[in-house]
Parts: sequence; structure tokens; C-alpha cells
Amino acid sequence: MSDFPTGRLGDARKELRAWYRRIARPLPWRESRDPYTVWISEIMLQQTTVAAVIPYFHRFLERFPTVAHLAQADEGEVLKLWEGLGYYSRARNLRRAAQVIEANHSGVFPDSVEGLQSLPGIGRYTAGAIVSFAYDRPAPIVEANTLRLYSRLLGLAEDPRSTAGQRVLWEFAGLWPAGRNPGEVNQALMELGATLCTPQSPRCDDCPLAMVCEARRTGRQAEIPPPPRRPEVTDLAEVAVVVHQQGQFLLMQRMPGERWAGLWDFLRFDERETAEMGLPAYLQQRFGLETGAHQQFLQLSHGVTRYRIALRSVHCEWRSGTPRDGDRPLKWVSQAELGETPLPVTGRKIADVLAKMFAGPLVLKGDQPRGKRPRRPPTRG
Ligand code: SF4
Repeated sequence: MSDFPTGRLGDARKELRAWYRRIARPLPWRESRDPYTVWISEIMLQQTTVAAVIPYFHRFLERFPTVAHLAQADEGEVLKLWEGLGYYSRARNLRRAAQVIEANHSGVFPDSVEGLQSLPGIGRYTAGAIVSFAYDRPAPIVEANTLRLYSRLLGLAEDPRSTAGQRVLWEFAGLWPAGRNPGEVNQALMELGATLCTPQSPRCDDCPLAMVCEARRTGRQAEIPPPPRRPEVTDLAEVAVVVHQQGQFLLMQRMPGERWAGLWDFLRFDERETAEMGLPAYLQQRFGLETGAHQQFLQLSHGVTRYRIALRSVHCEWRSGTPRDGDRPLKWVSQAELGETPLPVTGRKIADVLAKMFAGPLVLKGDQPRGKRPRRPPTRG
């Protein structure tokens, strides 16, 4: 903080506000000061771009317009609305937090940083954002864009993600939201970080805070902040098996602690698990299924956190056996039900390919005649 001219903070804030009033993007969540709306938008915007969030935001609020609606929601339906946004623990936490607000706060949103931070999935940044945007009270905020902005304004020598760096940034963030409309000051800081003070080629000539920016004064915009250390990438090979019988597809639910907990997926596991016995015997041993006509039909590659996953998709036909996998829920779904079921992105891609493969009325060898509902194969539990 030593090099920042705090004596010029008042003038800088004034410039910042004037700039924001001129250029603020008309984002849908800025039309409301309802804490519920602010909360939903802030959680969605974590790790996700504004453009990607907008349609999800509208759909979510249309289906769950209040905390009470969300508290009563079925988890599967919340996950379905979240499908494709990733980081699904955000959706599960939203629902759990809504239930806590209903049960412990009589349905009224807490209005303090401490009260908000006691809710599932709400950290220091989100609590500060809700307090400042919904209640227009001064609260510091540091997220990805303001982390970069504050680091440059201060000419921060430390890694801004380190404990020491975080302490400096949060303290600095607390200096800004003051005077009338402290929430607007925070909005302006975030907007500046998102639109002008970008990671590459910041537009310093247009910046309302250029006069107090240490990185600009010393020409170190490109060095500050240093890029985060990337975790080492691990390669994985997995297989997704589409077990199919008379228009029904077998799905397994992702368990707590697993990737995509709560979502449904085709039978999916590490390729190495099948290495010794081969796929048909593995399906028999683990899931109790006799299957035939195995055919690979799709190869996908995708990244999840620090993993790069090569996913081989295999289609096969159910011959006999009641599927089971310990306590894990399994279910047969029709093509139409597949469309209503929350799936991870790769599961949805597989489902889309299946929809094309089986376009039109699904009649395979041995199927029921058209118009008659196919018999649903058995599942346990
Ligand atoms: S002057 Fe440049 S580096 Fe400094 S805050 Fe503005 S855009 Fe960022």
C-alpha cells in the first residue's frame, strides 16, 4: 500500500464513478437490487463469463423466482437448469443455502457479511458483493478482475494470491466503497477490471484511475500480477457405456464426493478397470449385466480441473440382468426422459449423438410394435 497516493483517493473515486455512469454495461442482474437476484448472478458468474451466464440467469429466475421456490426445489431440477455451467457444487449449495434461509432466517436474506458467510457456498467475496450491491453498504470485494486491478494500482510486488498478498488486497479493497452509493463504487471497480484493466493489453489511456496507477507509472502493467502457477495436467482414459434396451438407456447417478455429484451419466469408469477382463465381463461383474453387440461410436476429449480426459463411448445391448452398483442409484430412461435428466457436458454430447442415431421412432430388432410402450427393464432399489 506504501506507494499508493491515498490522499488522492477521493478524486479517483469521483473519476471512477463518472466513468462508470457513462459506460456501465446493461447487464440483467444490474436491473435489480434484490439480494436473491444478486446472489444467483454472483454465484453463476464465478469461473464463468457474462455471455455464458445471461441465458442461465433468465431461465433460473423464471423457474425459481424467490428463495422459497428454490428451497422447495428438487435437486435434480436445479442441476438440470445448471447443466453446462460446470462446478455443480455451486448449484447444490444454492439450494442448500436457500433451505437454511427459509429454516433459520424466516425466509429473509441475511444483510451482513458475517451472516451471509455462514450460508453454504457463500465466501468473503460473494458476501461482500451482496451487501454492497443489494444493500448499498460499504464492504470490500476482491475477485479475479479486481485482484488484477488492485495489484496494478498498488504496483504489488507480492503474489496477490499469497496470504500476504491477499491481506494487502483486502485492506486496499476496503478503502474504496465509501460515501454515497458505495455499492456503485464496487460495481465500477469490477467493471474497470473486466473491461479496461484486462490481463493482456490494458487500455490505460482510457482508464479513469490512470493518475493513481503505480503499474502504469512504472510501466509494469505486463508483469503485474504474475500469472498463477498452473497445476500439472494429468491424462486419464475413461469409457462411457451406453447400455440400451428397447428404447431405454441405463444411467448411473454420480455419488457425493465424485465428480459431478448428483448428476446422472451413462455407465462411466476408468479404462484401466476393464483392462484385465475386458468390457463385457466387467459389466457383468460390476453391474450384473449380460450385454452384447458392443460398438464404439464416439471419442471425446475434455478437461476437468487438472485432468485431461480421453473418453471412449461404447454402445451395447442389454441381454439380461438387473443392474446394480452397490448403493448407487441406477435407472432406465427413454430418449425423451434423457432430455429432462441433468447430465454432465460429455453425457449430454453422447445423448445428442444418440438422438441422431435413433432419430424418429426407435424400432430395433426385438422391439415392441410401434405405438406400444416398450417394457422397461428392471433396476434394483
Ligand atoms: S492505468 Fe492501466 S494498468 Fe492501471 S488500472 Fe488503469 S488500465 Fe489498469
